Amino acid sequence: MPTRSITNVIVTGKSGAGKQPRIDVLVEEFGLEQLSTGNIFRSYLGKFNEYGYEGDLKEFWDESKERFIPDDEIAEKLGTSDNDIMLGMKAKYFVDKGLFVPDYITNELFESYFAKKNYRNQVLDGYPRTLQQAEFLLKLIERENSKIDFVLLVENSDEMIIERTVNRRICPKCGKVYHLVYNPPDNGRCRECGAEVVQRSDDTEEKIRSRLEEFRKKTVPALEYLEKHGIPVVKVPGHLEEFTPENVRKSVMDEVNKLL
Ligand code: AMP
Repeated sequence: MPTRSITNVIVTGKSGAGKQPRIDVLVEEFGLEQLSTGNIFRSYLGKFNEYGYEGDLKEFWDESKERFIPDDEIAEKLGTSDNDIMLGMKAKYFVDKGLFVPDYITNELFESYFAKKNYRNQVLDGYPRTLQQAEFLLKLIERENSKIDFVLLVENSDEMIIERTVNRRICPKCGKVYHLVYNPPDNGRCRECGAEVVQRSDDTEEKIRSRLEEFRKKTVPALEYLEKHGIPVVKVPGHLEEFTPENVRKSVMDEVNKLL
């Protein structure tokens, strides 16, 4: 049982470092809920894919302004003004390249989800990932009289991440994550809910390398900013010799308990 109550925690690390099993531990130990910007973007991206638009997405991006063209123009070209489908197009444009979605889109989306949960009791997964997002988050926390107790940084080497990620499969229905060699699905199906597992569209080596570069360039300064503003950073290994639920829990809680 939790020894102390936690308001919010950030779980961060390179994409593919092994955040999900550590998030599961924190959710269980402290009764928190996971708020994942990656999952949110993927759900909108799925809606856009279902819509079945065949054109080139480049026509929606205004290179000179580093922004998407206005929404009414996007709606006209897409043939729909459905906000979810338009947001899905914007997410796809970046996610499929292994690039971060621009801050002006991510911050607005994040705030709307964080607000639904009263800015409390969340494990923030994959947010903030840039300096601007970190600044935005701390302002929000101050305005709402909320708190970030600590950042859990899951550390892993680039080589390990590439090997893990190209073999990663996810369940599109319940989100469970598999590895083709170490934790294979059951004949291509999720062991929890039976849905056919899929490979994420951004889990190719080229796109993984691009995400690793984004982490170094943009996320490292965001973490430095949070630390400078008094939020402790707890480091845990993403790779364990013996990967069992007990070992994951111990490696997380031993470090977290030192802080609490
Ligand atoms: P993840 O599942 O956390 O690896 O996120 C998948 C993709 O979603 C990333 O590669 C980005 O394209 C996008 N994404 C998720 N969170 C953020 C964020 N905080 N800022 C910008 N892009 C994000």
